[in-house]
Amino acid sequence: MPLTATREDIKAYQEKVEKNKITSNDLDPCPRCNLEPIHFKIHAYRERRFLIIVEMLVKAVHCALVRFKCSGCGKTFAFYPDFAVPHKHYTRQTVLTFSRSYVEDDQKTYKDAVMTVDGVPECSEKGRPLAPSTIHRWISTLAGIFTAYQAAKEKPLEEKASSGLCKRQIPKKKYRTLTRKEVLLKCRGFLGLSPVERINVFSPGLR
Ligand SMILES: [Zn+2]
Repeated sequence: MPLTATREDIKAYQEKVEKNKITSNDLDPCPRCNLEPIHFKIHAYRERRFLIIVEMLVKAVHCALVRFKCSGCGKTFAFYPDFAVPHKHYTRQTVLTFSRSYVEDDQKTYKDAVMTVDGVPECSEKGRPLAPSTIHRWISTLAGIFTAYQAAKEKPLEEKASSGLCKRQIPKKKYRTLTRKEVLLKCRGFLGLSPVERINVFSPGLR
């Protein structure tokens, strides 16, 4: 997986938004009233700042995201392009690459995980590199998304996400509390999903 979405990926998406090519067709029915997505209307455009990594420097790129509104019950949903993770500025590729590097390697510390690539990405705007604590937070986010997805499905996905990764124990040095252990297991569950399942997990209908 690439380390980051590119400026071109994000610009291409912005163009789709401007040309009205983002439609509600790919969304799930409304989770509140079950109305089909064809009845969703565009509610708002929100500008979002994304952080991408270009030659080991963190750069900001702005892009509008579309919010749809269910015309049955008024619930609104953000439509997330595939490079976006809800509530995160870094792109999906960056969040997944660094989180995976920590969770898949029993020996790695958060500090090591930051060094996953050739160097540590430097944040040019704030003048500081990617922090180990950022990866700690990303793992919590992925675990949270996985939990929400499981809760939304009748059958828990945990059994399905049964790559070798999920069955392995979490080494004791990776957590201090049982809550964190649980988070790491959930994050493994998330990373063990197939690409198709992961698209469902990120499906905008869930938020
Ligand atoms: Zn609705």
